[in-house]
Amino acid sequence: MKGTYTHLSMYSGSSASGHGGGKMSLGKSIKMYLTIFVLTTCIYMALYQYHLSREPFAASEVVKHQEKSSSYIASYLSLLMANSSSNSINQSTTTSTPTAPTTTTTAGTVGQKLGASSASIRMVSLAATTPTFVSSPSQLRSGSVGGHRQTAGTKTSSSTTTTTTTMATASGLATTKTTTTTATTAKTSAKTSAAATPTASHKENAHKTRTTFVAASEPPPLYIITPTYRRPEQLAELTRLGYTLKHVANLLWLVIEDANATNPLVGHTLDRIGVPYEYMVAPMPEKYKQTKRAKPRGVSNRNRGLEYLRQHATEGVLYFADDDNTYDISIFEQMRYISKVAMWPVGLVTKTGVSSPIIKNGKLVGYYDGWIGGRKYPVDMAGFAVSVKFLKERPDAQMPFKPGYEEDGFLRSLAPLDSTEIEFLADECRDILTWHTQTKKNAPAQALNRTHYKDTNLEHIDQLLVRP
Ligand code: UDP
Ligand code: MN
Repeated sequence: MKGTYTHLSMYSGSSASGHGGGKMSLGKSIKMYLTIFVLTTCIYMALYQYHLSREPFAASEVVKHQEKSSSYIASYLSLLMANSSSNSINQSTTTSTPTAPTTTTTAGTVGQKLGASSASIRMVSLAATTPTFVSSPSQLRSGSVGGHRQTAGTKTSSSTTTTTTTMATASGLATTKTTTTTATTAKTSAKTSAAATPTASHKENAHKTRTTFVAASEPPPLYIITPTYRRPEQLAELTRLGYTLKHVANLLWLVIEDANATNPLVGHTLDRIGVPYEYMVAPMPEKYKQTKRAKPRGVSNRNRGLEYLRQHATEGVLYFADDDNTYDISIFEQMRYISKVAMWPVGLVTKTGVSSPIIKNGKLVGYYDGWIGGRKYPVDMAGFAVSVKFLKERPDAQMPFKPGYEEDGFLRSLAPLDSTEIEFLADECRDILTWHTQTKKNAPAQALNRTHYKDTNLEHIDQLLVRP
């Protein structure tokens, strides 16, 4: 650029002297006019930039990206000006200086800014695998999940997409603390495209990007039953699973600990995650605890969860999600709409590497699993879901305290269930969306030397360690 301009200046000088000399050739006069035109344009643009830089503008209207490009133009122009004039111009403008304060990145601020420009927040994969329009916070209805009733005051979470209602209930042994989150999205089946509820203020803008809208409605509730137990990894497992579940709308997380009393550390972890939950306890019967043989892990917890559903739930779907497994959120959107029982593959199960129904020509022809063990349903705990209505029509259905046969026993207890009634999810069992991951066991943390570390942060974090 610099070279080009020097070139032009040179011509400018020579044409001026040509003019003084009387007659000019046609070529020379064209060059002169061109030079005058370019110079005038440059001066005009520079003046305009100066005018813009003097004009105050509201921070909410400033998008960082635009700031950058405008200062880029400004520095480019000033560079041009510096070269065009024999008088030197202050070069400091070539380094871009922000013209507005850096935008904060809290969700609320972003939401408001988006609200100012488009008033609807485009969420990608928050509750579905397809991009979803989420209505602005004011549009969110405070609601309950399943058969829950709100009983206490409200608070707003830091996320623009959720309004949480904290309530306290008590049922039996359970210390229950429930956070109810409103459904933030429209029906978000992987098959169904999501919708928005445009308000008058953003209707016009929304129509610029989307042509059709479907009325938003809450999708069927999901009840996720998670057995958990006290160990060093417990809070890490719950945190990872919890943040997966946070991507799923209209869900109640039933966290049930194999213990006689709840642990405040678990409660705090669940509060921090912000997924609607019930935290309960259901200890493994003493006779199974004492055994030297394989234990029925998580069975009393899951049966407590089933009992809770029989009392409180009327519709939707239940799923047993162990705290240590890995889940692709699209499986939740698929299981939401099942009518009775659904199954799908689970990775990292036995020597086959995957446990799955075998489907041929759209029909179930058997099960693939490294250990069949005479089971009618040789499936993993993470590989099936059941409709709440279907469960409630079978009052005796429950999980047996029989190690290795928990899934089979529970599914058998759902009889009558014809294999033709089972739905096969995850692309008719051609995909793997859940994995039976296992976390390495950690030795219990050693005791903290309280004298040595007195009045340090270690006194605090030591309280956060889960010791057996
Ligand atoms: N679990 C439990 N009590 C126990 C052991 C396990 O409640 O004594 C829970 C555990 O948190 C998990 C589920 O039961 O959610 C299955 O346990 P684990 O992952 O140890 O079994 P695996 O996956 O190896 O079969
Ligand atoms: Mn496990």
